[in-house]
Amino acid sequence: MSVRNNLSEEEVTDERKLKAIIVTGPSGSGKGSVAKKILETFDSFCLSISATTREPGPGEEHGKDYYFISREEFKKKIDEGAFVEYEEVYQGNFYGTLFEEMEHIVSRGRMPLFEIDVAGALRIRKILGENALVIFLHPGEPVIEVLRGRLRNRKRDSEEKIEKRLKKALDEIAMGRGSDYIVVNENGKFKETITSVFGIVRSFLKK
Ligand code: 5GP
Repeated sequence: MSVRNNLSEEEVTDERKLKAIIVTGPSGSGKGSVAKKILETFDSFCLSISATTREPGPGEEHGKDYYFISREEFKKKIDEGAFVEYEEVYQGNFYGTLFEEMEHIVSRGRMPLFEIDVAGALRIRKILGENALVIFLHPGEPVIEVLRGRLRNRKRDSEEKIEKRLKKALDEIAMGRGSDYIVVNENGKFKETITSVFGIVRSFLKK
């Protein structure tokens, strides 16, 4: 099954029955944890692995967390039209969803689950129309303090990188208003977040 050529909303919606869920939100909102729970609970979904030019973090693996590729390779893929969408998410680092990855998931009869930034999420939503659902995770108030605490706890990024991510967070929250659902993932309330998300996923699957 190819979703690459002449990808119009009608084709995808009416003929290919491609359903997808997109989990989005600012860095530190809990996208990874929520996506993991969805994947553990709903067999029909398969995580879409993105390509990125950023360095792998501790314990991250090529082909599992991301396809870690060079800037040259990434640029080549842009020129080849290999990406459904891509973004320079944080200055200097590119992230993108590959058509090939989506096709691979769909050809195995599974549904892609995307864990990507808000701009990318809204772009995929536009392409797939009603067959895609965007769930935006809001970290709870006060946004910056909550996110800073979580990103520091994660111990992956330097203070400088954390501040870069925080700078983008408020814009992302504003952009997130265009999502299908906004779920608040407050500190200490992950169980409640998952209950809400699962309710949303179940009703989407029934449609
Ligand atoms: P991280 O460096 O924390 O893994 O990811 C940084 C940001 O890039 C996160 O918001 C993540 O969701 C987003 N991201 C990951 N893959 C993609 C992708 O394929 N496309 C877009 N637009 N964003 C992505």
